[in-house]
Amino acid sequence: MNVLIVNAGSSSLKYQLFNTESKTALAKGGCERIGEEGGAISHKVPGKEPYERLADLKTHEDAIKLVIETLTDSKVGCIGSMSEIGAVGHRVVHGGPYFTGSVLATEEVLEKVELCRELAPLHIGPSLVGIHACLDVMKDVPQVLVFDTAFHSTMPKEAYTFAIPQEYSEKYHIRRYGFHGSSHRYVSREMIKILGKPAEETKIVTCHLGNGSSIAAVKGGKVLDTTMGFTPLDGLMMGTRSGAIDPAIVSFLMEKENLSAAEINTVLNKKSGILGVYGASSDFRDCRTAMEERKDERASLAIHMLAYQVKKYIGAYAAAMGGLDAVVFTAGIGENNNIIRSMPCKGLEFLGIDFDDEANDAVKRPIETTCLSKAGSKVKVYLIPTNEELIIAEDTEAVVSAL
Ligand code: AMP
Repeated sequence: MNVLIVNAGSSSLKYQLFNTESKTALAKGGCERIGEEGGAISHKVPGKEPYERLADLKTHEDAIKLVIETLTDSKVGCIGSMSEIGAVGHRVVHGGPYFTGSVLATEEVLEKVELCRELAPLHIGPSLVGIHACLDVMKDVPQVLVFDTAFHSTMPKEAYTFAIPQEYSEKYHIRRYGFHGSSHRYVSREMIKILGKPAEETKIVTCHLGNGSSIAAVKGGKVLDTTMGFTPLDGLMMGTRSGAIDPAIVSFLMEKENLSAAEINTVLNKKSGILGVYGASSDFRDCRTAMEERKDERASLAIHMLAYQVKKYIGAYAAAMGGLDAVVFTAGIGENNNIIRSMPCKGLEFLGIDFDDEANDAVKRPIETTCLSKAGSKVKVYLIPTNEELIIAEDTEAVVSAL
């Protein structure tokens, strides 16, 4: 089946046409500046020249019409007509307490997604606009919603509850939800295959390290705990997010710097993390260059902080699961940077990790699944490139096949 995967932002719409039999993308692209001046589409079909053009995109409906026009174009496209799209799979960041798996976008479902809006206003609003645009433009094509939070819905109460007055938790649905679910699900599934033992017996720590980063403890194929919380701000320090900090710093800074709730939110989400500590960039590559080539102390501190935090969570989750079979690194930083894989694994020999520096330093492009632990290592360490699109396409096909 060809599944059109859609990820709608406030002024953008990214897409992939994914074939579930060949497990490959037939086309990838995105529309930018929707509702603004200078709208444009960029589009790439493997084996063809990249295609870009300006287009007046007043609404997300205009964007999705242009995507279909481009996909079915005889020169730059890859399919003959819209009828070759079997279903649409929408990536939705937050499923709140309502969704534990992927679902067909019915009216009842969309009403529940609407209730998630206040949990992730910057993401759910645009997602809903994108979903409605696709429902309008592609009336006969089933639309499926795949939630970033769903894979984490198996966490036990003691892992997902925050120790605040429980009336607030209940009134506002405050709990740990976790994010990057499709990525943690994909890489843990691949790791279970490599381990070659029954999924129920496996204990895996998955480290999704990118501009946004999270770690999950996956025991028996199910999430036991994860670092992101009520929002993606919790857990590890990230490109621009602080990760977990003493919560008293929030009110302290608000008072001292006379900041509003929105302003402190911006400080913690957009000005912290690697950017906050290093100061010059949120990009791990820049930070690493500054550390290695210019001996920049703040860059070095940022990298050592992140590595330390990753190590700390690996240990914590090994304890929570009562053992450890494998550690997996994935996403932009995890796949492309040897030091963020080696630094956290050093000193974990007592856990059974015998890290293979040679294999780690020899990783080449294109990035492929690679074993980073020595042959006798009790705990396996792997680099597994993530594939969230495959999970979204497979789930979409499964929901549509069951109709
Ligand atoms: P993501 O959010 O998964 O796209 O990851 C973004 C982060 O991955 C940035 O901090 C980049 O520095 C890092 N990254 C992405 N691609 C590369 C690459 N080819 N080499 C080194 N770092 C990379």
